[in-house]
Amino acid sequence: MFALRQISARRSLAISSYARGPAKVPLFINGEFIQSKTNKWIEIRNPATQEIVGLVPEATQEELKYATDNAAEAFKTWRKTSVLARQRVMLDLQKLVREKQDDIARAITLEQGKTLPDARGDVFRGLQVLEHACSIPTLLMGESLPVSKDMDTYNIRQPLGVVGGIMPFNFPAMIPLWVFPLAIACGNTCVIKPSEKDPGAMTILAQLAQQAGVPNGVLNIVHGSVDTVNHICDAPGIKAISFVGSDHAGKYIFARGTANGKRVQANLGAKNHGVIMPDANRNYTLNQLAGAAFGAAGQRCMALSTVVFVGESKKWLPELVERAKQLKVSSGFDESADLGPMITPAALKRAEDLIQSGVDEGATLLLDGRGFKPKGFEKGNFLGPTILTSVKTHMRCYKEEIFGPALVCLEADTLDEAIKLVNANMYGNGTAIFTNSGSAARKFQDEIDVGQVGINVPIPVPLPMFSFTGSRGSIQGDLNFYGKTGVQFYTSTKTVTALWRSEDVSTAQASVNMPTIR
Ligand code: NAD
Repeated sequence: MFALRQISARRSLAISSYARGPAKVPLFINGEFIQSKTNKWIEIRNPATQEIVGLVPEATQEELKYATDNAAEAFKTWRKTSVLARQRVMLDLQKLVREKQDDIARAITLEQGKTLPDARGDVFRGLQVLEHACSIPTLLMGESLPVSKDMDTYNIRQPLGVVGGIMPFNFPAMIPLWVFPLAIACGNTCVIKPSEKDPGAMTILAQLAQQAGVPNGVLNIVHGSVDTVNHICDAPGIKAISFVGSDHAGKYIFARGTANGKRVQANLGAKNHGVIMPDANRNYTLNQLAGAAFGAAGQRCMALSTVVFVGESKKWLPELVERAKQLKVSSGFDESADLGPMITPAALKRAEDLIQSGVDEGATLLLDGRGFKPKGFEKGNFLGPTILTSVKTHMRCYKEEIFGPALVCLEADTLDEAIKLVNANMYGNGTAIFTNSGSAARKFQDEIDVGQVGINVPIPVPLPMFSFTGSRGSIQGDLNFYGKTGVQFYTSTKTVTALWRSEDVSTAQASVNMPTIR
């Protein structure tokens, strides 16, 4: 393996010590946790208190190259390991992640702010993708057909090489777990860049991967921001990039990565609409709306951030406000909290400004969570549940992703009108209809132009045997994360046509015609 003499390698931090206090987050390269030599460090702050809980390095160019070179070197042997050996490593890793779920969840709550039960859900949804990757021998099976006498055609799926992962802050365990287990199980090696805001979960996952027997260089972690991202986009050794995050970064990474000939999948922003039919179960629907709009402080790409009340269902608004008021906003470690803080003061300010823009453009602020300061956490980035009604499609608060606990409400007279409204929005990540009518639900699933549809299910994130199929403005690239398309993304298909003659061909004549099989 490549060596980087300037760096003094240091063994892993104890998992339990990581979440305890400010620490310099290590790089993980070639099986070693390494202290970066950089002089540029990014502060990780607990969003509930502003306390500095860690420092993330802007990895140097030399360190980035070291990671990519080692991943490329490790690929030469990892691609040749048997698929059963790779399956065994995944099985061992899933056991360790299951055992350490709570440690990972605590690191998430500390750095990201979401409540501990929600952080456990973050880990669990990722763990399920890892469990799915344990079926890699079956998932990698190709197709085969005896096409004529003595001739077989079959295809095989082969790994691509080094896969880069560029991760968002909002699911620091689940989204890396969408990427590296499947990529590695397919025979690739990985260079992952966690969000600089909350790298703790990925650090623990790397420790567990090492314990599970992932060989040196197969999984690497680099840190930083734009320079690190540019390295992943440009390094010739990296063959594919999995990105999840905002439109701005994602479009840039997709353009730069594909211009360099890389395969790129980029999951982007969202504006998910819930369509509420008047025949829906009122109590169930209102509870689901409150959970899906405000849970995780609205910082889920599948949050139901926009509601379209059809006909008389708009009369339920006062009840929705009552439910929203009952939600407790506090530190994610407060066991009675329903939602925690937003990630940064800048994210909070952006959400507050968008709420104000709604008011300025004529919307009605039915519930205003701005300025909320939970006792004991006055410095945190808190926004209480907020509800804007009489919102129109030209308003900024409708057109832009708020990514906070702010729900914008619109109205439609008919289901047709609601479908037209949703389809005119630029995003296509998720949507949900609430109804008791089978025919309304079928019409909705057929006519709605959104990639993930819930019927009485507010956050229809598909389980790992399916794929995450956001559409239109919510994705760039063709192959989705996890499931069958995830395997396709991390492999290339080779189709072999083999002829093993059973007859003597020693006297046959040459033919220059296009070979055909009839
Ligand atoms: P972000 O785009 O700010 O950051 C994502 C990654 O890109 C980070 O690793 C960051 O370091 C890097 N990055 C940020 N700005 C960059 C730039 N200018 N140039 C190069 N790299 C850059 O996103 P975020 O705030 O971490 O995550 C929230 C966003 O992610 C929301 O828009 C949300 O909808 C979206 N998201 C989408 C999905 C999905 O599956 N569609 C899932 C989760 C989150």
